[in-house]
Amino acid sequence: MFFAQVLTLFPEFFDSPLNCSIPKRAIADGAVAVDCIQIRDFATGKHKNVDDSPYGGGPGMLMKVEPVVAAIAEARKRQPNTHVVMLTPTGNKFNQAKALEYIDKESITLLCGRYEGFDERVVDYVDEELSLGDYVLSGGEPAAMCVLDAMIRLLPGVLGSPESAVLDSFTEEGMVDWPHYTRPEVFDGKVVPPVLLSGDHAKIEAWRKEQARLRSKKHKVSR
Ligand code: SAM
Repeated sequence: MFFAQVLTLFPEFFDSPLNCSIPKRAIADGAVAVDCIQIRDFATGKHKNVDDSPYGGGPGMLMKVEPVVAAIAEARKRQPNTHVVMLTPTGNKFNQAKALEYIDKESITLLCGRYEGFDERVVDYVDEELSLGDYVLSGGEPAAMCVLDAMIRLLPGVLGSPESAVLDSFTEEGMVDWPHYTRPEVFDGKVVPPVLLSGDHAKIEAWRKEQARLRSKKHKVSR
């Protein structure tokens, strides 16, 4: 079983997405366990504050270093070989290769920020900083859920057909999937490419390979 942990101020964020479709089945079948650790449980003081204003002034609040580092220590205690990933817009870019790299580990811990982000000293306690892309989310939770979802579908036995994940876009470097069609044969005057109805498997494979090549080229240019 693969062990995923999420350090968050909003564990309830994950209730719905982990409770439907592929993640729900993967958890029920024991392919993965996802445990949320509430960062606030590690805050000290009367008010259990997890945020404070930045030194030097400026807008917004920051996640305090002490509760975050204590939550990371708890995650490492529960899963000693866990790979701790801090979600931040300025980290390494997440992609399919990263998802494949992560499922080869024993466990992953995803650290979600809120407010204006983390006290910079948190960086010394994590193994990697990871970004979903060059845009700013209001919290790390949606980013963590994307990482979890991309990983979970790659775990052995999770997808009905193991071939599906192998044929997915980006599994082979720089290559994207070919176009797919299902019934009806004609919709609004748009027809399914005749080769797909030909029953000639060699021709179908050649057509798919060529379409994937063309789409990969287009994808590269548009990035
Ligand atoms: N002040 C920060 C900045 O401009 O870089 C943004 C902080 S953001 C409002 C709050 C939290 O959301 C971050 O600490 C991080 O955990 C998460 N987050 C926002 N955008 C993200 C992205 N593109 N990838 C991963 N995490 C992100």
